[in-house]
Amino acid sequence: MTERARHLDAADPLGHFRERFAVPEGVIYLDGNSLGCLPKATPARLEQVVREEWGKDLIRSWNSASWIDLPQRVGAKIAPLVGAQPHEVIACDSVSVNLFKLISAALAMRPGRTVVLSEPGNFPTDLYMIEGLEQQGLAKRRLAPRDELAGALDDDVALLLLTHAHYKTGELFDMIALTRAAHDAGALVLWDLSHSGGALPVDLAACEADLAVGCGYKYLNGGPGAPAYAFVAERHQAALRQPLSGWMGHAKPFAFSDDYSPAPGVDRMLCGTPPILGLAALEVGVDLIAEIGIAPLHAKSQHLSEFFRQCLAESGVELELVSPADPARRGSQLSFRHPQAFAICQALIARGVIGDFRDPDILRFGFAPAYLRFADMAEAVRNLAEVMQTGEWQRAEFGERGAVT
Ligand SMILES: *Cc1c(COP(=O)(O)O)cnc(C)c1O
Repeated sequence: MTERARHLDAADPLGHFRERFAVPEGVIYLDGNSLGCLPKATPARLEQVVREEWGKDLIRSWNSASWIDLPQRVGAKIAPLVGAQPHEVIACDSVSVNLFKLISAALAMRPGRTVVLSEPGNFPTDLYMIEGLEQQGLAKRRLAPRDELAGALDDDVALLLLTHAHYKTGELFDMIALTRAAHDAGALVLWDLSHSGGALPVDLAACEADLAVGCGYKYLNGGPGAPAYAFVAERHQAALRQPLSGWMGHAKPFAFSDDYSPAPGVDRMLCGTPPILGLAALEVGVDLIAEIGIAPLHAKSQHLSEFFRQCLAESGVELELVSPADPARRGSQLSFRHPQAFAICQALIARGVIGDFRDPDILRFGFAPAYLRFADMAEAVRNLAEVMQTGEWQRAEFGERGAVT
């Protein structure tokens, strides 16, 4: 295992990019799909924004350092990573807030239809945001299992809201087929790319997607609570009305008019003053992922996860795989089911192998291909096998849950 990993690492064309990230000594980080690693260039960039742009130039920096254009600039850099045009993506707010804006806007674009269709077990915030709109009398939530979604698309459905790569299992949706099915039924589609953007090929243009959102702090390495991004296809931009009509989404914010008039294009997705520190950090992460390139990242991600599975098979540990066995049908992760998943995960973390647990029984390992080595796969499996074979996970300390699991 170790010998083979050494050869694979030596031949890895992306191997040298690991040096561009601050991966802590003694840690095997299999949680880049929850919080990406710190790019080494980020602290210096933040230092510059804080000390120079804010500290010295103060309010002048909105113009002189182009702070005011940062949401559009970062959005334009994210766009090619998800198959969009630069003026179709903007970096702003959280995924949750962007979901609220875009679900509302989609409902307004389909008058007479009120149903927002999704799948049970979708990421909670996606389901909760539909529920919030339902409580306001603006939407009806309909959930159908993934193989029944097409049949649940009827004349009442305004919007199909799905997450491309499932957060627990990593299973992918066929974006082209489902977008087409929704369009055939007269509905719009909103894709949540949180677990795919920055790690897998996504082609919003090819699937004729209407709307999308994605996360800045996972595979884009923007840091904790990094701004998210929103996509609005060019053909919908003029008609899009989102309800958070804050002044930064106004056509002329500095005219200080009493009446709201939305900015042209995707800029109307903005609400309040953009978080410059967060956007500056996100830009560094996005630049780095764009430099590496999605195609090589995806190839390595598939290779890493298949190597992990081979190591696991050789170790003799038996765990039920809940991710699709075919790497073409899953995101950059492997999830396993075990009744003691929480304690096993804690025991691994104590050994420096950081994966995560998803309630109630899922052990999830994310493979951020930008900074992981094949040697990390072999080491992680060696530790997992020891934890399982010695029963180490049964120690009392590994049963205690913190606030964030
Ligand atoms: C991580 C994630 C989010 C995060 O939403 P925030 O509001 O930015 O915290 C949303 N949707 C999915 C599918 C996610 O994986």
